[in-house]
Amino acid sequence: MAKIAIIGTGLIGTSLALALKRSSLRDLEVVGTDENRQARSGAEKRKAFDKVENRLFSVVDGADIVVLATPVLAMKEVMELIGPELAEGCVVTDVGSSKKVVLEWAEQHLPRTVDFVGGHPMAGKEESGPEAAEPDLFQSKTYCVVPSARASQQSVAEVTTMIEAIGGTPYFIGVEEHDSFVAAASHLPFLLSTALVGCTSKSANWEDIAQLASTGYRDITRLASGDAVMHRDICLTNSQPIVAWIDAFIRELYEIRNILEAEPHPDAEVVKGVFDQVADARARWLAGEATAKARMASRERQEMPGFAESMGEMFMGRKLLQAQKRMLGGMRDKEKDRR
Ligand code: NAP
Repeated sequence: MAKIAIIGTGLIGTSLALALKRSSLRDLEVVGTDENRQARSGAEKRKAFDKVENRLFSVVDGADIVVLATPVLAMKEVMELIGPELAEGCVVTDVGSSKKVVLEWAEQHLPRTVDFVGGHPMAGKEESGPEAAEPDLFQSKTYCVVPSARASQQSVAEVTTMIEAIGGTPYFIGVEEHDSFVAAASHLPFLLSTALVGCTSKSANWEDIAQLASTGYRDITRLASGDAVMHRDICLTNSQPIVAWIDAFIRELYEIRNILEAEPHPDAEVVKGVFDQVADARARWLAGEATAKARMASRERQEMPGFAESMGEMFMGRKLLQAQKRMLGGMRDKEKDRR
């Protein structure tokens, strides 16, 4: 039986366990742990895991795949702790929102006998913890795959097969591109949401403004309710790309500001053009037009023979290999004893 160990039984870790349980994968044991007692008991209540343990080492013992689903900054310490405990051939992956630092920690703290394949599901919500977990959180969602330089094709295939089993779409991307593009598509939005709530709620007239704030304000500020630890860790581990996108955003907003400030006002059609252009870009994005080319490029990058193999077959392949190694070792020992 293959064993997947999930460290961090919060929103993403428990959603992953629920999705694996509902998947077509058989002969799979999914175990979890969390340093937070409430998160452990919450995960138990959700019946997402075969076992929820309070000891990190018991969870990773004999695991074929270890998934790090803690806040990003905690991943360094977790890697340091579990590194010496991991079985040879184990594949370690993560779900963190920043990839460069996580890949660097994996290189520094994981032994050479295991492979690291970075991951990042482009799925989530502003609530955290196991109570908010959903089995279909990853359904039809892009799931970034950023393998370390040393990761074997088989390790990458194991991770991508797990992603496909939970309904996600593996998306191969370089580490620098990942960190810059998610800064634009994910990190900038929650900072804009934060800045909007900050700027309006600090106003002396906030109580009156709040009375008028309706669905538009609610929609655009949803992300400001996200988990503060998660947002803190993202900002501290992906600051440079985020700053670059904040600057780009300020330039864009400033252009709009200048149009409004100009005296006399520019032609009404020029002002309308600003909104027409972005409405068109958003409609194309919603229709999937903007993403089709990128998906094709990702597929070319993956260069993965046997990508569609079932996880069961792959685990079986590795388990057989391990059994074969053990058998050969035993035969060698017997041979020595005979001599
Ligand atoms: P979450 O619901 O807060 O779950 C994380 C859990 O990990 C918490 O229970 C936390 O406990 C626990 N934890 C912290 N340090 C730990 C350690 N050293 N060992 C074991 N457990 C530890 O957060 P989440 O939303 O699932 O996010 C998890 C990861 O997914 C983050 O890296 C985040 O960047 C990434 N991600 C999140 C989303 C999203 O929308 N939420 C989307 C994509 C990716 P405490 O609460 O006590 O700290």
